[in-house]
Amino acid sequence: MSREKLNGLGINLPTFPTSTVGSFPKPDYLVEARAKFAKAKIERKELEDLERQATGFWIKTQEEIGLDVLVDGEMYRGDMVAYFSELMPGFEQSGLVRSYGNRYYHKPIIAGEGRWPGPVTVGWWRYAQGLTKRPVKGMLTGPYTVMDWSFNEYYPDRRSACLALARQIRREVETLVEAGAKIIQIDEPALSVRPEELPFAIEAMHLVTDGLPAYFIIHACYGAFDLIYSQMLKLPVDNLDLAISHSTLNLMEMFRRDPFTKDLSLGVLDVHSHEVEAPETVRDRIEKALKLLPKESIWIDPDCGLKTRTIEEARGKLINMVEAVRGLRARIGLN
Ligand SMILES: [Zn+2]
Repeated sequence: MSREKLNGLGINLPTFPTSTVGSFPKPDYLVEARAKFAKAKIERKELEDLERQATGFWIKTQEEIGLDVLVDGEMYRGDMVAYFSELMPGFEQSGLVRSYGNRYYHKPIIAGEGRWPGPVTVGWWRYAQGLTKRPVKGMLTGPYTVMDWSFNEYYPDRRSACLALARQIRREVETLVEAGAKIIQIDEPALSVRPEELPFAIEAMHLVTDGLPAYFIIHACYGAFDLIYSQMLKLPVDNLDLAISHSTLNLMEMFRRDPFTKDLSLGVLDVHSHEVEAPETVRDRIEKALKLLPKESIWIDPDCGLKTRTIEEARGKLINMVEAVRGLRARIGLN
């Protein structure tokens, strides 16, 4: 079904389209330049030139690896919520707050009406798409996660904050579609944190995607997916991208109970491990899914963004992932 939608959008993909979740490791020169920029030692223009250079490197690298649907690699972003909230009027930044593990960051504060500041990601999407003939995904953080990872000091409750942000984020999505993006991924890593809030997270996603001519992917990680899986099928998107490489079997049990009705991006690489998975490991993970899902509905990608790996680890993992997929395509008589 979703394959027809893609074809209608002019996108023809092989069986088991390969892609990535979005972020790639930044080259050393860019890490250094970001540190210098933070200390006001270089101009923004110099930083942006290097961000463009790094984006070009990753587009070329993805083409060489043979991925089907590319990403810009998020060379211009630090934290996924801070990136958007720093640009959006209505937000302020807090003092340092402790997040997962020992990482400290400035948690955004919703201090006024969140307003779309004009295109945030569109320029980067356009730049990356201009470097390749393969489709590049539009990428942004979803309203539920922006709300959940911020302090709300303005809206009366979490639901109204989430819906208000959704209306602003829709404007970014509309602009991406107008620019020509056909595949748009909305990252909602916080989605499964509070199952009781999933109904309004779904309501928010309707505000973001309804009526727009694009193939929508939602990426969620840190999942208590067993609790929310049947609800997640109500999300108004075409493809669920779930971080499940550790728990494939359990999830597959759930598919048996509640048949899957969308495309699934099957996260087959563990982004938190230095180990470069062998093609056979990847193939086994895909074959488990194939026992329960039609091959037409499966996309293949890592289980989250690769930004915490080294460039060589990220490249090695993706090369093996593509090799596994090519082997499977050949074995079942495709391409
Ligand atoms: Zn993720």
